[in-house]
Amino acid sequence: MASILPVAGGRAAWRSLRSGLAERRGLIAAAIALQIAASAAGLVGPQLLERIINSSGALTDATIDRTALLFSIALVVQTVFTAGARACGALTGEYVLARMRERFIATVLALPIGIVERAGTGDLMTRASTDVDDMSQAVRRGVPELLVASVTCVLAIVALVVTAPILGLVVVPVIPPLVLATRWYLHRARPAYQREAAAQAVVNADLQETVNAARTIESLRLGARRIAQTDDDIRDWIAWERRTLRLRTVFFGSCEAAYIVPLVLCILFGGLLVIHGQLSIGAVAAAALYAQQLVSPVDTLLAWQDEVQLASASLSRVVGVSEVPPAEMTERIPLDQLLVADHVHFAYNEDADVLHGIDLAPEVGARLAVVGPSGAGKSTLALLLAGVHAPRTGAVEVGGVETHLLPPERLRREVALVTQEHHLFACSLRDNLRLARADASDRQLLAVLEAVDAMQAFRALPSGLDTVIGSGGMSISPGFAQQIAIARLLLADPHTLVLDEATSLLDSRAARHLERSVAVLLEGRTVIAISHRLHAAHDAEVVVVVEDGRISEYGTHAELLSAGGAYARLWSTWRQESAEPGPQESVGPSASTAD
Ligand code: ADP
Repeated sequence: MASILPVAGGRAAWRSLRSGLAERRGLIAAAIALQIAASAAGLVGPQLLERIINSSGALTDATIDRTALLFSIALVVQTVFTAGARACGALTGEYVLARMRERFIATVLALPIGIVERAGTGDLMTRASTDVDDMSQAVRRGVPELLVASVTCVLAIVALVVTAPILGLVVVPVIPPLVLATRWYLHRARPAYQREAAAQAVVNADLQETVNAARTIESLRLGARRIAQTDDDIRDWIAWERRTLRLRTVFFGSCEAAYIVPLVLCILFGGLLVIHGQLSIGAVAAAALYAQQLVSPVDTLLAWQDEVQLASASLSRVVGVSEVPPAEMTERIPLDQLLVADHVHFAYNEDADVLHGIDLAPEVGARLAVVGPSGAGKSTLALLLAGVHAPRTGAVEVGGVETHLLPPERLRREVALVTQEHHLFACSLRDNLRLARADASDRQLLAVLEAVDAMQAFRALPSGLDTVIGSGGMSISPGFAQQIAIARLLLADPHTLVLDEATSLLDSRAARHLERSVAVLLEGRTVIAISHRLHAAHDAEVVVVVEDGRISEYGTHAELLSAGGAYARLWSTWRQESAEPGPQESVGPSASTAD
């Protein structure tokens, strides 16, 4: 399936990297300056050698000592400055990486919720983990390595040209074969490596399957077939290994050969010039050493081509997330608290509607229970009412403004949704609750915990509101986590609440108790609660039955029971199947209509 999240083009990816680099111009300049100094010190050796050779035996001890001293100093300077340049390069890399990660997180958090829902978390997680990792490897190591190699390369060529301008030409014949070889390699390498990785994955998957199903394989005598299958897989893998090995051998082999060419040309051509008295032997020797100094950085630059390509693919995927168009928002303010679904059709996939013309207009302050068989479209309806998705046709409006067009902060003050999927952040319980209202006092926090029946679980916490929960913190029961999610909702205090199986993780007695305590607190607010436990329907003012994406029944519990339709059937099945106490045990007058 094609990804819903876009992939950035090469230019946009590069622009994003460059903007990160631009913020650390000083550090990059320092790295380049240090590397120029280091590379310049590296050029001293051949110069000294040139002088020694050209002095043709007229060397005093003092000259030798001075030369040795200069050589040593140059070596130390080169080492120290290269280390400095690498450090600056690495700092730049880390900084750029940190910025890109921060931007990525900020972008992901700002993504329109509907896009995240539709894209699913898999693609986003791969981008946030594998792609960011691939990219970080390249940025961390690549920035310093490429910086050092490029500067060294340029300076070695400059030194070669300065020492013997004519010998500078020896570099030229190497460029076309290197460019051609690199293009040849890059064109073939990436698909070959991908196929090799895929072939290896097949071997792993089949082996794992064989081991996991060992008993079945033995009992059905499938051993020979599995071995043949594994042999086939391994043969395929080896074939791809061979192919990539051949590519490496040809490419790196031809590069090695190409590296020798400047040296050979330098010596041959330089030798001729020496014979004709146009160049000193010292200059040829120095030029040959400079030509040799080019090998290592050029090798580094070529070796990095591959990684740079892979990293740029990852970078494009990471940057692509920022190309999701921002959600279209309205500045209109809802005029009242009325939530209305008007002839709503909705489809996840274009060809098949999941909701077929839903009309719903609960009175302000009403308590609705939405029930129906699994897969009927209840959760989808909840997502639409809460403005997560936009209807395909029709409208969902609050106070006359379409919910999906309201900015998230505004929308959450009007309509809020609690589903089974709640998240506890790795911080104190206080901070987890204050996400919903930053200025809530401890008294208010305790009051909402009380309202959601969570005081017993709360008292068991070692440090009260300061207890760190969430990943890495104290582990709490799923039921308590769900109570915290509802407590957040109470703090957020919207006038309309959509609860989608919000108490499903509590046992039924606790759930019912919680729902009743919350109901008291929510007096005057509209509550639309989806629940597979029909006691919620029994307690609600209005029951809405959703079947196959349509509202099939609408009325009070008693009305729908006496109508003897879908709700009556659901109710009787639920009563038989559940070991739940009948509502008459604890509820008032309407209980008599239950059976
Ligand atoms: P319910 O809440 O009543 O169990 P849902 O609203 O979850 O029903 O699902 C209604 C239909 O929509 C089902 O056929 C389900 O397979 C489909 N559906 C739900 N979520 C998605 C999704 N993210 N992508 C595609 N189809 C979905």
